[in-house]
Amino acid sequence: PLVYLNGAMMPLSEARISVLDRGFIFGDGIYEVTPVYRRRLFRPEQHLARFMRGMRAIDLQNPHDEAGWLGLMQQVVDAAPTEDQLLYMQITRGVARRTHAFPAQTPAPTVFLMSNPLLPPPPSVHEHGVACVTMEDKRWLRCEIKSISLLGNVLAAQNAAEQDANETIQFRDGYLTEGSASNVWIVKDGALISPPRDNLILEGIRYSLMEALCAEQNIPFAARRIARNEVFHADEVLLTSASREVMPVVTIDGERVGNGKPGPIYRKLYAAYQRAKVA
Ligand code: PLP
Repeated sequence: PLVYLNGAMMPLSEARISVLDRGFIFGDGIYEVTPVYRRRLFRPEQHLARFMRGMRAIDLQNPHDEAGWLGLMQQVVDAAPTEDQLLYMQITRGVARRTHAFPAQTPAPTVFLMSNPLLPPPPSVHEHGVACVTMEDKRWLRCEIKSISLLGNVLAAQNAAEQDANETIQFRDGYLTEGSASNVWIVKDGALISPPRDNLILEGIRYSLMEALCAEQNIPFAARRIARNEVFHADEVLLTSASREVMPVVTIDGERVGNGKPGPIYRKLYAAYQRAKVA
């Protein structure tokens, strides 16, 4: 497959960066993952807005305007072999002598885009739901930034993998934050509830979308702190992300969620999401 690196399209096997890249040395950069359906980027403006917000948050000079980025994104999508894709893009503070603070002379950022086939979750996920485990959230306090420094998320994902679970649901000081790479939602008495948009979670692009789908489906929605026991006593628990779409959780740490089957609010929101994808 062809990827984009610093101004040129090239085969993935030929893409090279310096070992002094601050992304490699410090994890000094941000990234974005955008789903693509039938070669059309899904909600690209929202993904790009979050990407640009991330650059401002870490004082990284943005080398392109919105139209420039959208052009690059579509170029990589058009060069990929499959219709449905997950587009990955990353920008780092570039190459400089190793010292923690920003280089005195701002280097050119390293810009990398690649697209991989998007495989939607298999039907069994929707019929039977998935198992999750839990862990204390040990990440830093700027989780709203989609940083490439993902060690906390990597360890949380590995924790799930080792227990044959789909995802690790994280809690900080007794309150729900999010998954290793997904937002987590609970359903209680017919209402969808999520942790607030703040520095303790990454606001998924599906966050606002779920809010809108709730309004469309007449499902009450609330954003507020959610205590650990509320998650274990929820009627339903859902995960969302670019790749998971909307996913039903049926067990947490081996305990059944609700009646242990994907629930009615999940079914409504999943169907509404599928419609939004092709709208
Ligand atoms: N939270 C974290 C930590 C993530 O890595 C992701 C995305 O993979 C999400 C939430 C969900 O974000 P989105 O809906 O934009 O995929």
